[in-house]
Amino acid sequence: MRLLFLGPPGAGKGTQAKLISEQYALKHLSSGDILRAEVAAGTTLGTEAKGYMNRGALVSDATVVAIMVERIKQVADNFILDGFPRTVPQAEALDEALKEAGVPLHVAICIEVEREKLMDRLTGRLTCLSCGQVYHRQDDPPPGNGRCVDCGSEKIIQRDDDNEQVVGERLANYQKQTAPLIDYYRRSGLLECIDGSLNRDAVTTALRATVESIDRR
Ligand code: AMP
Repeated sequence: MRLLFLGPPGAGKGTQAKLISEQYALKHLSSGDILRAEVAAGTTLGTEAKGYMNRGALVSDATVVAIMVERIKQVADNFILDGFPRTVPQAEALDEALKEAGVPLHVAICIEVEREKLMDRLTGRLTCLSCGQVYHRQDDPPPGNGRCVDCGSEKIIQRDDDNEQVVGERLANYQKQTAPLIDYYRRSGLLECIDGSLNRDAVTTALRATVESIDRR
């Protein structure tokens, strides 16, 4: 099964991709996580990407396509793409690569949430650096011992790009550069939309229904 999660920053793509990938034994390929790992390792690519990421801008299409297509080739099948593609040229490059490999996408799922809620979610968000588990300062704080419920790590931080100014940039860039992908996938007949403003469990239930409908196709 080959899925793609689309939606603005803060829609819950990462959280849901983690849950759905565990449940259906899919590989979770998050372009943001992959880029953050490059930054943490201090690679040439990470050094180049860091400046863009810290100011809420997109890393260049060529860089992201090269790294993601390579990862997809390694996995071959049964994956969820989270955060990639983010521009029409990235989507075209992805289509080309998947066509060449004979493994087209089954569905592009757009998780929709209104702007005000995204602002609140992102500026209050805390993230486990080790496993990507997310918390919210007020609504879903990490346990009192400061250890991640999922992996036990103490490295729960506010991401550098989750402050109000950078979040504003990321949301504006989403509208300009990524939202056109909704029409792109609608035209290819692959688009399914989910209301991401519901609570976590309700969104997971809606996603499961979509995934299981693919299984039966
Ligand atoms: P995310 O964790 O998905 O919110 O991504 C964090 C940051 O990584 C983004 O704000 C971008 O700077 C960069 N990034 C992630 N995915 C992509 C992509 N597909 N194209 C360009 N930049 C990306």
